[in-house]
Amino acid sequence: MSFASLGLAEPLLRAVEEYGYTTPTPIQTQAIPVVMSGADLLGGAQTGTGKTAGFTLPTLHRLMQKPAVRDTRGRLPIRALILTPTRELAAQVEESVRTYGKYAKLTSMVMFGGVGMQPQIDKLRKGVDILVATPGRLLDHHQQGTLDLSHVEIFILDEADRMLDMGFIHDIKKVLAVLPAKKQSLLFSATFSDEIKALADRLLNKPELIEVARRNTTAETIAQKIHPVGREMKKDLLCHLIKENDWHQVLVFTRMKHGANRLVEHLEKQGISAMAIHGNKSQSARTKALAEFKTGELQVLVATDIAARGIDIDQLPHVVNYELPNVPEDYVHRIGRTGRAGAQGEAVSLVCVDENGFLRDIEKLIKREIPKEIIPGFAPSPNEKPEPIVLGRMVIGEGAGRGGSRGGRPGGGGGGGHNNGGGRGGNTGRPAAARQGQPGGRSAGGGGGRPAEPRRDGGRPSGPRPANSPKR
Ligand code: AMP
Repeated sequence: MSFASLGLAEPLLRAVEEYGYTTPTPIQTQAIPVVMSGADLLGGAQTGTGKTAGFTLPTLHRLMQKPAVRDTRGRLPIRALILTPTRELAAQVEESVRTYGKYAKLTSMVMFGGVGMQPQIDKLRKGVDILVATPGRLLDHHQQGTLDLSHVEIFILDEADRMLDMGFIHDIKKVLAVLPAKKQSLLFSATFSDEIKALADRLLNKPELIEVARRNTTAETIAQKIHPVGREMKKDLLCHLIKENDWHQVLVFTRMKHGANRLVEHLEKQGISAMAIHGNKSQSARTKALAEFKTGELQVLVATDIAARGIDIDQLPHVVNYELPNVPEDYVHRIGRTGRAGAQGEAVSLVCVDENGFLRDIEKLIKREIPKEIIPGFAPSPNEKPEPIVLGRMVIGEGAGRGGSRGGRPGGGGGGGHNNGGGRGGNTGRPAAARQGQPGGRSAGGGGGRPAEPRRDGGRPSGPRPANSPKR
């Protein structure tokens, strides 16, 4: 199968070839003809499958086939809208639009919060065919009357499950309400909770279904390994692994922001260049860190789960779980950053005795046991006793991993396809608010109003977060 045989317009084929793609990935082979036919699409695909080109290429193709018609004010209207959960993802998707659309005479723009409105208004005035946006800023523009979405022909909701996780359901509904009823809609999601299905029912008209990666599976191209380690030896083990193996471009995950900062300090002291990206970093600091990491100038990027969402770095060779995530699905997302589009990748996890419950949950989810390897000199002491893990004001104690007693995702993700209980079962690990009968999870329906524009980590909006839940 080649891109040419999919019937894509010549300027698109030229751009794709120049970019170095020779064969479409499975999602591309399936999605491109569907989108080109004008049908709605429900796509089950994780990041790393090539889904971005899977929807971008046929969108460009369709827009190229039909010239834009100026609106009543003589402006070129927005014809395609792509919504993404995070700023990083929006920027990357728009970059893909520009890459694949290099020879197509179409304009694109990325729009997200945290930066000035006026340059975005100026750009909109000049006419934009394809807009890639995060929901908050999009609605800000719409409310100010600086954005007209009434001519959108193609609407794409990317990473819909993440959107819902992040409390964007109200925003999505508001956006849907201002889009024309007659349009082509595509919805992509890695997981299919009842909420996603309800959203798909509302948005899509007789959609074609495409699923390329089974839910919560980890790609075969990723070599996974656990290094059991003493609690206080993790930092040194990480330095040892990086130095011994001469690792470059290492993406390291921590659960919390302050943990990320402390780790960066330690790595720097050991002569390993490192930066952290998380919600307390400015957009420019994060863009800089990502750019330096991509060029290889920066050896280690330390990220929290939310900040890392949507980061797309080609063939990332090493992902390290410095701390295992307390939500097992996050493990799958984390290691999906490596071994992309056929390239080999390695994901190692440094696991201390406190995290055995998390590990059990992960292995249950991915339905396989991850090989364990003790690095000489870093073995955990047999006398080390598990201690509760503190996530902000949430404590995950000994009940972790014994079914149902896990607390919700900090910040409240107790739903949306995640089976992390959020209050079912025992009382360990639950935000105090939930125990007091206040909304303890992401309360899509209860928060009222639109959550704030994604914080600088592109992450969980502050709106629906229980007041006393931890931030990360
Ligand atoms: P995505 O799932 O859209 O985030 O894409 C994952 C990665 O695969 C990106 O780095 C793309 O550049 C790359 N990619 C997408 N399509 C292809 C293809 N047909 N051949 C090789 N690499 C691809």
